[in-house]
Amino acid sequence: MVMMRNRNLKLLTFLILLASLTFLLNYTHTVVTATWFPKHMVSELSESFKRLMNYPQRPCTCSRCIGEPGVSPWFDERFNQTMQPLLTAQNALFEEDTYSWWLKLQREKQPQNLNDTIQELFQVVPGSVDPMLRRGVAGCRRCAVVGNSGNLRESQYGPHIDSHDFVLRMNRAPTTGFEADVGSRTTHHLVYPESFRELGENVSMVLVPFKTLDLQWVVSATTKGTISHTYVPVPSRIKVKRNQILVYHPAFIKYVFDSWLQGHGRYPSTGILSVIFSLHICDEVDLYGFGADSKGNWHHYWENNPSAGAFRKTGVHDGDFESNVTATLASINKIRIFKGR
Ligand code: C5P
Repeated sequence: MVMMRNRNLKLLTFLILLASLTFLLNYTHTVVTATWFPKHMVSELSESFKRLMNYPQRPCTCSRCIGEPGVSPWFDERFNQTMQPLLTAQNALFEEDTYSWWLKLQREKQPQNLNDTIQELFQVVPGSVDPMLRRGVAGCRRCAVVGNSGNLRESQYGPHIDSHDFVLRMNRAPTTGFEADVGSRTTHHLVYPESFRELGENVSMVLVPFKTLDLQWVVSATTKGTISHTYVPVPSRIKVKRNQILVYHPAFIKYVFDSWLQGHGRYPSTGILSVIFSLHICDEVDLYGFGADSKGNWHHYWENNPSAGAFRKTGVHDGDFESNVTATLASINKIRIFKGR
């Protein structure tokens, strides 16, 4: 009888140990290899634990975590963990210099009062939570940031892009008809009114506001539809559900401009804004669709765009400097760049 109880106790202990180990393995699934090497596993687990201790704000269990300090002084000088990528009702107070810089971006003649605009905005889109940044458990968030470069043509990157947790796209990027090269999944799409395209269901729209009117537009486009023109015609109504709209923080645009672009160009392109955004919300980042054509123009994978060189002529973005930033990030293994063809 006693022997039976002992055996049951041993069995129970073994089962509890097995369950705990399975839980731990799931918890740290990205660092544990499939083969059963207890010694190796213990050292992996302790490495993973160390990483959690080094990086308490956003626990990460990848083999490399972007936000980890101490890898590169160049990166540490630029990366500011405290910057919040998204605008919420709680962080909507702008510092004076941020507001005046942002106002000058597009030289709006008579911008509506910002406080009123923000109040209207958060009556329509969620303002109390920051869903992108709220992560309950430790994990490894792998992101694909897909630019619009023609180098995606015949790249066959589609399945690789789709295998990421988050797939970020931007501006007019289509997927239908280009799935083999660019994939079919999108979790977040960064746009401004003039670059808007209708999004698939369950895709979060990240509005990048370059002016006050852009914030008004998102309110209008999801309610009465009164704004149909900014400096060009824009869609007066959009189908995106209001609770799927996020707003890129104007202070974060300035952070990208000051810290990462060191003031090059007039303001950052949607591409580099997406890249730096991803450094703050992802643990691993893979870039696709970045790279100008042989003349330095931003050609597209889905069209022969006549305005591919416009940003060069106007000097609005410094494409070369931006691509130096991404190349440097790749050289220090913070991101990977898939160059296409
Ligand atoms: O052309 P568009 O601005 O919509 O492209 C989105 C982003 O993709 C750009 O801001 C740029 O960062 C990147 N891009 C690129 N090379 C191209 C086309 C776009 O790096 N040929």
